[in-house]
Amino acid sequence: MSHAHGLPHNFLPLSHLLPAGAAGIFSPAMEAVVEAPLCVPPDEPAVLLSDIREFAAGGSSYVFVVDVTAVFALDGLSRDILHYLRPGKSAPAPATEGRQAAGAGYVLLKDIFCAFEGTHDRQQIGEALRELRSIRAIRFSGFPGEEWKTPQRQLPPAPFPQRSLVLNVANDCNLGCSYCFAAQGDYGTPKRMMQEETARSSVDFLLANSADQKNVTLVFFGGEPLMNLGLIRRVVAYAGEASAKAGKHVDFTMTTNATGLTTEVIDFLSENRIGVSVSIDGPKEYNDLRRTYKNGMGSYDHVRPRILELLHRHKTRPVAARATLTHGITAVEECFWHLLDMGFHEVGFAPVTSSAQEDFALTSEELWTVLEAFRKLSDIYVERALKNESFGFSNLSNLLGELHTGISKNYPCGAGLGLLGVGADGDLYLCHRFSESPAHRMGSVQEGLDVARQTDFLSRAHLSNKPHCGTCWVRHVCAGGCYHEANTHYGSLYHANAHYCEWIRSWIDLGLHAYARIMESNPDFFPQFIEKRGAV
Ligand code: SF4
Ligand code: SF4
Repeated sequence: MSHAHGLPHNFLPLSHLLPAGAAGIFSPAMEAVVEAPLCVPPDEPAVLLSDIREFAAGGSSYVFVVDVTAVFALDGLSRDILHYLRPGKSAPAPATEGRQAAGAGYVLLKDIFCAFEGTHDRQQIGEALRELRSIRAIRFSGFPGEEWKTPQRQLPPAPFPQRSLVLNVANDCNLGCSYCFAAQGDYGTPKRMMQEETARSSVDFLLANSADQKNVTLVFFGGEPLMNLGLIRRVVAYAGEASAKAGKHVDFTMTTNATGLTTEVIDFLSENRIGVSVSIDGPKEYNDLRRTYKNGMGSYDHVRPRILELLHRHKTRPVAARATLTHGITAVEECFWHLLDMGFHEVGFAPVTSSAQEDFALTSEELWTVLEAFRKLSDIYVERALKNESFGFSNLSNLLGELHTGISKNYPCGAGLGLLGVGADGDLYLCHRFSESPAHRMGSVQEGLDVARQTDFLSRAHLSNKPHCGTCWVRHVCAGGCYHEANTHYGSLYHANAHYCEWIRSWIDLGLHAYARIMESNPDFFPQFIEKRGAV
């Protein structure tokens, strides 16, 4: 976490960062140098640009400091000093470039003072340097205790508390979507339903392994989970009782194709506060291209009335739509507005960048078209946020949530690290997408977690083992990307998703712009809409 200096937000307008006379930022030796005469001997201390990304938004300048995953506003002098430290005193590199401070070497402190003395007094220059150092945008050399050490790789402390289990309650599906990663719902294994005993063991496993976590999450997944509704009803009741005994709370969510929704099912979901995410790709024209029954018939006409009833009757939780973007489907805005007009509270998009059958992956050109649409939706998002209104574009809400929390990630997601998938027979997997894959099994809810395998995974999957990401400015936000996607594309889950880095960097840059614009003008938006929300 990078709540710099203990302040509540991960964003500090630099001009307000250090009140006059702030102490403890420089060691005594450094204070002496900042107060020293301008022209110092050539072997005097020097300054080095850290890993940063500079950007401008809404007429102001900002810096994103990579190692602390934090955004700071820059005043003119600080911005100019950062530029001065670049090779050739150049402007920042485009967002698509991974290495933003490439080639920047040490610049003598005396040269910085000399360069800016004509426009600013020494006190101002010293103050700007102190502030830039305090936010870690620059480093000093030549001062006692200032040597830069490469951070040591740290694995999460074991045992890591279990927060979420994704249950494959139905290893079967009534649809036959052509792009399905789960081979039309059965992951290429015999079709079967999870049994009650396995589901109960899953609840017991989650509660027993959640350490001091008071809130844990059970996700009903498949295949199509509503094909095993009876089990879901029983496990919800059991989890309620078991968690009460353990002094914990279980939150339930479900991902469904909506074909099995009835009035009775919807009332059950609402009464039990089960969060629902519906897989639907947009209007009939797009949805029915690939979301079909096994006989090839489109699913839209069947699910639409059921979804409308869900949106009308499910009163206790927001309902989200999840649209998969595959080759040939880039009409993001059209799909977004269609789904929002239906009444979904949030709409999120999953662009497919890798596919076992490569036909379904978006081409590079299509991915950029998608980004342009994301940019337009993000602009609307910011406009609404400045009026203190929410806007249901969940991709941006999720990214803003991450940026605001300021978590510096060494792993891309919670897979194997608080989140596990549970197969229909109770086997534990890295995440739900690896269900039924023996190579990614990590024990079972009956026998317990295979800790040796988990430790091996965490060690190998650590960001420090992804050389491709070593100098990338988004590495602590992206951390190499989804393991499943990497496994599909490169045959190894430990590989970085190097096939669309420029896109990822541009998307995160877009998020930084939105974050800065909202934070600058309406910081209250975050506690009201983002902190309470969690990821959808
Ligand atoms: S996979 Fe992510 S972190 Fe790694 S280089 Fe690409 S964009 Fe950067
Ligand atoms: S590995 Fe991929 S699919 Fe699995 S939890 Fe992580 S991001 Fe999601």
